[in-house]
Amino acid sequence: MASEAPHRPRKRFGQNFLHDKFVIEQIVEAFNPDPDLAIVEIGPGKGALTIPLLHKFGTINVVEIDTDLAQLLDDNCRTTGDLRLHVADALKFDYSQIQPAPLQIIGNLPYNISTPLMFHLLSQFSNIKFMVLMLQKEVVDRICASNNEKDYGRLSVMVQAQCQVEKLFSVPPGAFNPIPKVTSAVVKLTPNKTLNSGIEDSLMFEQIVRQAFSQRRKTLRNALRDLVDISCLETLSISPASRPENLSVKDYIDIANYIYFQQNQ
Ligand code: SAM
Repeated sequence: MASEAPHRPRKRFGQNFLHDKFVIEQIVEAFNPDPDLAIVEIGPGKGALTIPLLHKFGTINVVEIDTDLAQLLDDNCRTTGDLRLHVADALKFDYSQIQPAPLQIIGNLPYNISTPLMFHLLSQFSNIKFMVLMLQKEVVDRICASNNEKDYGRLSVMVQAQCQVEKLFSVPPGAFNPIPKVTSAVVKLTPNKTLNSGIEDSLMFEQIVRQAFSQRRKTLRNALRDLVDISCLETLSISPASRPENLSVKDYIDIANYIYFQQNQ
């Protein structure tokens, strides 16, 4: 078990520590990594997940920004297993230094950086086998929403263009200490190389998706007026009168690729 050495949770690092044994077991169970590939935990904190993972798999890489917690964890895990500690900012960390890849990533992420961190990880996604992440439930709902659902938006399209997404379960605030104001949920993201490699120009794709959802109440014709002409939508059998939330991820990829080929023919 993690040491009970006094540590005052630091709000700026989003420190809400898991203490519910059932939830911890549920997450470790859901992780199910290949033991021959590297396991990386982001934000191990006091070791609520790290220690059972070390018991189960022997070697874990962890990336922790808080030097005090890193020291505490190192002391606690000395006899538990092979803890490979990287005292670093997970937002800037170069995950390619950890081997053997592709990596299997787990983390109860600090809510204040969860979305940029997920995109930082996805920018290295050819190096990642899968990620099991605890995030704010509201963010997980947005990541996993399908078109025509109320939570569907830019985050759904950008993540689903790169990953298969699977919401695993919700976690109530009482599972953490200190108790957060929001409900959490665990999501599994598995990079989908086939879908992503269909995007010819990722900057163009990003621009189309951002522009569409910045004007989500407009029709597609109006929302994308500066970027896409009607003939593009007609060729792709997408109704110009539809709204941004009606289009599938594949529709957005098709629009971005159409423009790319038009510009590069
Ligand atoms: N895994 C532990 C648990 O479940 O109890 C702690 C989770 S707590 C929500 C988030 C952890 O991420 C803390 O240990 C915090 O110090 C760490 N953290 C916050 N920002 C970070 C960053 N930019 N890079 C690496 N770790 C960070």
